[in-house]
Amino acid sequence: TQTINLKNRPKGKPELTDFDFTNSAIPELKDGEVLLKTKYVSVDPYLRGRMSDAPSYIPPFVLNEPVSSGVIAEVLASKDANFSEGDFVSGMLKWKETQVAKTNGLIKVDSNKAPLSAYLGILGMTGLTAYLGLTEIGRPKKGETLLVSGAAGAVGSIVGQIGKILGLHVVGIAGTDEKVEMLKSEFGFDEGINYKTTKDMSEAIEKACPHGVDVYFDNVGGEISDAVLFNINKFSRTINCGAISVYNDTTPPKSISVQPFLVKNSSSMQGFIIGDFADKHQEGIKQLAEWLQEGKLKYTETIQEGFENIPQAFLDLFEGKNKGKMVVKL
Ligand code: NDP
Repeated sequence: TQTINLKNRPKGKPELTDFDFTNSAIPELKDGEVLLKTKYVSVDPYLRGRMSDAPSYIPPFVLNEPVSSGVIAEVLASKDANFSEGDFVSGMLKWKETQVAKTNGLIKVDSNKAPLSAYLGILGMTGLTAYLGLTEIGRPKKGETLLVSGAAGAVGSIVGQIGKILGLHVVGIAGTDEKVEMLKSEFGFDEGINYKTTKDMSEAIEKACPHGVDVYFDNVGGEISDAVLFNINKFSRTINCGAISVYNDTTPPKSISVQPFLVKNSSSMQGFIIGDFADKHQEGIKQLAEWLQEGKLKYTETIQEGFENIPQAFLDLFEGKNKGKMVVKL
């Protein structure tokens, strides 16, 4: 079966030559294992971190071994009574067309309740990151202003909608006019800012957030976040979800010059990884599914086709080629 391995640790921006394709035999099924056919593969910015060998919260990928990420797969054969041929499962699986996997760690997903790809997005890690990051760390109150960076992406587009459900004034920052338009017309954001065409971000934020920023959901870090922090309110909360704008940097980060704004505004900043809230995942998925069913939440996806296009889909995240969740369909 075809496999995608990490060939080199990327230097700066990842490239196609950092990956290679190999063919390997499929091992015999043992008890407690299933044979899986990959249907959808999630590509995510955080995988960039696992491609380098800097110490982190998850171990780095091993060179010349398969890359792995969230995958939806179909059970072709099973040696576990709880899984049958034809079931669909979600799990952290290898970038392989077909693979044998242990069943612990796999979750059955129901293709009648939602399209399979949704379990990688709104009904998976993405949705949980948006919901739990915003509510647990942002602690938003009705009437407050929420600013979201990376707003047209998978996590950001859900954060903004949850903000509207919770009664906030919601402003999104994204990289094209089309994305900004989508935030407002599809996802109900009140205002949007195109960071690529805006000369003075701080001024644009001040205009879009006339009462200042109470909650900042940060997916990108870097200069965009510096501009946001000039506009934060007293007792505001920043949720450090991600920092994609600096993931490919090859020099250490500069010190942030906006720290005095945190001091004088008694403002807090907190990072998190979604695993921190493992005890709230079930409840979170239940809430997201309910909102989805009620039509209060919508989602969009960018679906690339073909196993061979997984690395390119991953690279495209850093070029902003996706709207909503980027997935690859096999
Ligand atoms: P997205 O769907 O948001 O895809 C990435 C987007 O980032 C692109 O579409 C692009 O949009 C934007 N982007 C790329 N490069 C830059 C840049 N240099 N400056 C500003 N924006 C840029 O990905 P996800 O929703 O999956 O992830 C969003 C963030 O959340 C990431 O930082 C990720 O690491 C983090 N994350 C954190 C988790 C946690 O547990 N803490 C869990 C999941 C995700 P545009 O066109 O607008 O530039």
